[in-house]
Amino acid sequence: MSDCLFCKIVAGEIPSDTVRESARTLAFRDIGPQAPTHVLVVPKDHFPDVAALAADPALLAELVSEAHAVSVDEGVADSGYRLLFNTGADAGQTVHHAHAHVLGGRPLGHLG
Ligand code: AMP
Ligand code: ZN
Repeated sequence: MSDCLFCKIVAGEIPSDTVRESARTLAFRDIGPQAPTHVLVVPKDHFPDVAALAADPALLAELVSEAHAVSVDEGVADSGYRLLFNTGADAGQTVHHAHAHVLGGRPLGHLG
């Protein structure tokens, strides 16, 4: 998608602070971090949200596995982290390219 922010990041047309890459995913730091660790993990191909991404279970599993690997890299796997997919308007999804937020490094409260 030519006008998609995260497709442009994947293509290298917009810079990002990349922390991990797998065959089909990219992980980079959120530009407005809400916690000491705040990394976004995205599929390299365009899916509008996680519901669409679920049509490719292997890719969804790769993305979740990469999100956990980010938590290990960031040193928050043992203290705990939140894996979050905002989906649709009520959840406040602003970028319509599926992405998992990996949040950690402080107590996050019971809900988002
Ligand atoms: P969501 O609200 O779930 O759609 O999340 C979109 C996230 O993308 C927000 O947390 C933004 O801070 C983040 N974001 C927007 N632009 C960029 C960018 N250029 N690089 C990294 N993160 C970004
Ligand atoms: Zn996209």
